[in-house]
Amino acid sequence: MSGAVLIFRDVTERRRLARDLEQREEQFRTLAESIPQLCWMARADGHIYWYNRRWYDYTGTTLEQMEGWGWQSVHDPEVLPAVMKRWQASIEHGEPFEKVFPLKGADRRFRDFLTRVTPVKDDIGITRWFGTNTEISIITKTQQELREREQELRTLTDNTPDILTRFDRQLRHVFVNAAIERVTGRQPSELVGKTNRELDFPAELCDMWDVATRKVFETASPQWIEFRFVGPAGPRDFITQLIPEKEIDGRILHVLAVSHDRTVELAAQTALQDADRKKDEFLATLAHELRNPLAPIRTGLHVLQRSQDLGLTRRTQEMMSRQLGHMVRLIDDLLDVSRITSGKVILRKERVTLRAIVESSIEATRSLLEAAEHKLRVDLPNEPLWLDVDATRISQVLSNLLTNAAKYSPDQASISLAARQEGDQIVVSVSDNGVGIPRDMLTQVFDMFAQVNKTLDRAQGGLGIGLSLAKRLIEMHGGSIGATSAGEDCGSTFTFRLPAAAPRMGTQAPLESGISSGPSLRALVIDDNIDAAEALAALLQLLGHETSVATSGPAGLAMAIDAEPQVIFLDIGMPGMNGFEVASRLRAMPGAPRSILVAVTGWGSEDDRKKAKEAGFDFHLTKPTDDAELEAILAQVQEKAERSAPG
Ligand code: ADP
Repeated sequence: MSGAVLIFRDVTERRRLARDLEQREEQFRTLAESIPQLCWMARADGHIYWYNRRWYDYTGTTLEQMEGWGWQSVHDPEVLPAVMKRWQASIEHGEPFEKVFPLKGADRRFRDFLTRVTPVKDDIGITRWFGTNTEISIITKTQQELREREQELRTLTDNTPDILTRFDRQLRHVFVNAAIERVTGRQPSELVGKTNRELDFPAELCDMWDVATRKVFETASPQWIEFRFVGPAGPRDFITQLIPEKEIDGRILHVLAVSHDRTVELAAQTALQDADRKKDEFLATLAHELRNPLAPIRTGLHVLQRSQDLGLTRRTQEMMSRQLGHMVRLIDDLLDVSRITSGKVILRKERVTLRAIVESSIEATRSLLEAAEHKLRVDLPNEPLWLDVDATRISQVLSNLLTNAAKYSPDQASISLAARQEGDQIVVSVSDNGVGIPRDMLTQVFDMFAQVNKTLDRAQGGLGIGLSLAKRLIEMHGGSIGATSAGEDCGSTFTFRLPAAAPRMGTQAPLESGISSGPSLRALVIDDNIDAAEALAALLQLLGHETSVATSGPAGLAMAIDAEPQVIFLDIGMPGMNGFEVASRLRAMPGAPRSILVAVTGWGSEDDRKKAKEAGFDFHLTKPTDDAELEAILAQVQEKAERSAPG
């Protein structure tokens, strides 16, 4: 009986054990199927007999293909021997192993997997192996990308001219880029782990930085600071933005500071503001200076309209002519500055004596010197001093120095002009006993628009360009110019030096001048400005020529064909058909008269002259027309007319 019971018990126990086993197996499979890895089971000898679903899905295989050593077919043949070796060693020694190798997917692409193999043991020893394969190609790729990104970031931070610093809550540097070295002379590694104070930066600067950095930690809002730092690179001006760097949970971990060196920007900005201020001052001065001669000209006009007194009329005309001359000079100077600046001034060099230049300069400033009753002493050596220069330009410089001496000295001043030869240089100086120049302005007076006393109510103003022009002209001739003064009210001396030319025998014949009395000419004036046209026509008539006027291009063209003038004064800037066009048409027209064409224009550059020549002009007159130039042209036309006259 007891035997039957025993058997019964035995059977029940075995059934229970089998159920337990089944349950545990079931649990294991559920677990194995739910993990994200590929996994498998092998016998103690390494023969694999089970894979989870993911294995088949990934490799695209079946149990039949895989069973035993079938798994080798999804390995990279080049890596397989190493894997086999490792697997065999584990089986031999019963030890777990871990290795990364690629496995071929259903899409035939290899991806890296981290494989872990663990032995399952009982009392006797290893019964089977449990293996997992975890795909890590995404991790390796991410790591690679991370490394690349880090490299990029480092290249960026190390090469940006901005200084990047990152601070922790204790205000210690946790990161500093390479730019710091240029400004502080310290390596980034010297700063890391230290606060600004520990680095002995100026206390005021530390206070400013600490307050701003703390504020970012407290308020999470970016802060701006501006400061000057004096380091090995000299004083530099910075603007810094401090930005919070937040964790995902919103906590501020660090504060990043981006410091931008704006020394150059600030200097440029200041220069720009300076230039702008100078320009405004200049425009105000210009308006004032142009108005100055206009006032007496207008008054003069009223006098001429009302007065019958011949003496008064003559004096008024002389005054008006003087004032007009002053205005023309101002405008010429302005044009010269722009021409020299753009390299458009061409020197017409000739062999001249300094005496000739001195004489023409004195002539040009005589009225000014006389008006203030200045005494001019001229000290020239007896033997001629020869120069290879553009005589007009050097006279212009010398006139400017004489004019300044007259302007910046009280009435009845003593002005002296002296010249001598020093080695291979001719040295010319103009001295006065006037207001003098402060020491710090001695070189500045040669800068554009520079004036010592910038007040608009100066009695003898100017534009502050005369000396700048003089300097450029002298330098264009290979010379130099400078000023000396013993200070306020102690007078000034301006000296320029020019290369001396080899002496030449004989002297130049003086230029003939005066009104020639040739035959009367037929003249035509074409100008859309009626006043300008009629004024020129009146002058031509006064000089004895028969003159007609047209006020547009087409009308002028018709009159030119009709009246066959010997000389045509043609304005260039006219609406519709301009002077160039009128000239070209006239020249191209078969049977048109071969009149002498004179361009009358406000543009007197070399370029304009060239253009006029190409359009068929014979002469070029710059507005306002110079009487002597006009008469010289008329003389040439008369000469031509006489030569071609029958008989
Ligand atoms: P402008 O006379 O039109 O102002 P310049 O360029 O000729 O311009 O001269 C620049 C400045 O230099 C003058 O405004 C004046 O302050 C100073 N200056 C020039 N010549 C003399 C001089 N002989 N004595 C004193 N100051 C002078």
